[in-house]
Amino acid sequence: MIQYQKIIDKISEDTKKVTDKGVVASYIPELATINVDKFGIHILDAEKNNFSSGDALEKFSIQSISKVLTLALSFGLVGEDLWKRVDVEPSGDPFNHLSLLELENGIPRNPFINAGAIVIADILVSHLKNPKEDFLKFIQELTNDTTITYNRKVALSEKITGYKNYAAAHLLKSYGNLNNDVDTVLDFYFHQCSIEMNCKQLTSAFFIFMNRGKCQRGKNYLSINQVKRINALMLTCGFYDEAGEFAFEVGLPGKSGVGGGIIALLPNTYCVATWSPGLNFKGNSKLGMAALEEFTTKTGHSIF
Ligand code: GLN
Repeated sequence: MIQYQKIIDKISEDTKKVTDKGVVASYIPELATINVDKFGIHILDAEKNNFSSGDALEKFSIQSISKVLTLALSFGLVGEDLWKRVDVEPSGDPFNHLSLLELENGIPRNPFINAGAIVIADILVSHLKNPKEDFLKFIQELTNDTTITYNRKVALSEKITGYKNYAAAHLLKSYGNLNNDVDTVLDFYFHQCSIEMNCKQLTSAFFIFMNRGKCQRGKNYLSINQVKRINALMLTCGFYDEAGEFAFEVGLPGKSGVGGGIIALLPNTYCVATWSPGLNFKGNSKLGMAALEEFTTKTGHSIF
């Protein structure tokens, strides 16, 4: 039996000693107010045991981590047709770059760069009756937790400064890869990014990707094949132009967000979430990555 509690307590302690914690995202003004000293880590294992350390129960903005959950919901709705509109290759570019989108005729490289996530948002806007309510219900159902909700201040803050996302959406529209209005799709996208969750809730939501498509209550959401595809995308594209580094250091499929959260998982074994709001220059949590490197090194458990 691995001593998860002992290992994560030691990781929390080690992170307190680090002086360079990275820089809190400021391009979304509401996120700039978060205290860089926060640090949380949570493990949920396949037997449904929970282990917490630090600020693991404090909510934060999940930002791009939401892109995995919108992908899961849209994949369940439209199946393999989804890949006609979004590719499955790493971009090697920052999450908000647009150059490849034009070169590749409006087909985003993958569903986790912003342009790809905007196409997924468009699919949900087309298929859900009340997109914002229905998506939130999906997450509340996955986690069995109705306290999870949007932070409308963060969504509005991003809308006001979301120039690059407007550019991406207009470019997608010009190539015929956006069926709804730019404003409607981006309103949904800014809201999905503004969802607040803590580390424990994140591990609970991602249990389906660790547990072959079934949530903690045993309800099936995705086929084994769909889980394989989503986990493969997290491994190859979850950290944008730092996906190689994350696989090299940590060795798990995972996803980051500019709110400082990271979720990662070892299929059939555990989900782990970290939160440390300071980012490195690629936009991924600096101490979160270091903590997960320490975690897979100390447990000796990665996919490799
Ligand atoms: N909402 C953010 C954006 O669109 C998400 C980016 C991220 O978390 N990497 O810029």
